[in-house]
Amino acid sequence: MLSKEIINWYKKNKRDLPWRNTNDPYFIWLSEIILQQTRVEQGLPYYHKFIAKYKTVKKLAEANNDDVMKLWQGLGYYNRASNMLKTAREIVENYQSVFPKTYEELIKLTGIGPYTAAAISSFAYNESRAVVDGNVSRVLSRIFAIEEPINSSKGKNLFEKIANEILDKKNPGLNNQAIMELGALVCKPRQPLCDNCPVRLNCEAFKKNSVQDFPQKIKKNKPRNRFVNYFYIEQNNTIYIIQRTEKQIWKGLFELPNFDTESSLNEFEIINQIDFKNMFQKSETFQIKKTFSIKHQLTHQTIYANFFNLSSSKKIKLINESYMLVDIGDINKYAVSRLFDKFLNYLNLHSNKK
Ligand code: SF4
Repeated sequence: MLSKEIINWYKKNKRDLPWRNTNDPYFIWLSEIILQQTRVEQGLPYYHKFIAKYKTVKKLAEANNDDVMKLWQGLGYYNRASNMLKTAREIVENYQSVFPKTYEELIKLTGIGPYTAAAISSFAYNESRAVVDGNVSRVLSRIFAIEEPINSSKGKNLFEKIANEILDKKNPGLNNQAIMELGALVCKPRQPLCDNCPVRLNCEAFKKNSVQDFPQKIKKNKPRNRFVNYFYIEQNNTIYIIQRTEKQIWKGLFELPNFDTESSLNEFEIINQIDFKNMFQKSETFQIKKTFSIKHQLTHQTIYANFFNLSSSKKIKLINESYMLVDIGDINKYAVSRLFDKFLNYLNLHSNKK
């Protein structure tokens, strides 16, 4: 009953999105990976870029990591891009380039979790498996006035159970898309459009006038502050960059030489840091100037970034052999974080004014 109303509403009101006009699991998978934690408007151009460049999972599997990172640049959560490539290669190597058809097989692949496995198996193969994302949990928490937090492990199990119970077993793919769309367009996080909602007469939160109390969430820790100092060393139209290798958000991206400090420092303080001295081959006299400072917000970190221009009468050489000297004109070929991109924009503006 509930599902039927949501499906009928969906048929009349759904947005026309390219991955909804296909049963190809590769396209569905690409869209789901891109759309995790990304709004549709922001994700759409990336989806088009990926399917234009990599038309099949085989083509994607043949790509090199840096090219995929470059195409992904700006979407954030860069480990999703690396995992996507690993998954593509697994499908080519172990499944003859054909996506597995069942949830149980799909979930064995790297980078495919319960949500993505349910989406592919139900959208592409009509397997009866509920997809539970943030939209779906929010809608269910309101319809049934569920006080269990949607981000607790008990809550996640509970919402998955309810979503599967109310799923239209004959049209699971359609039902999943419909409830997700209801969450995106009507039962929005703030100011849901209850007057336009097809299930308002069955919605407990609406009937009790307590929509604003749902969903319940466990509060996450406050983001930690980081103070990162970047060094722009321009010599004969080249600069030093380095590819981040540690397992963290910017793994695989390129960035300027840098190190963290406990607080924001000025030029004098920065050149007296041991990390600064350890970067160079021998003690040299530098001219240093802080040129650009910016606060950059990530989910778990607030980054206070300071960019310093560094020059010397002699050629500056860095000790770590992982640093690469690249032509400034080639920097756009490298995948960089949004933070680095902001600095590059600043540089462009600055040099255009000269
Ligand atoms: Fe969400 Fe309001 Fe519809 Fe309930 S009536 S499901 S709160 S939009």
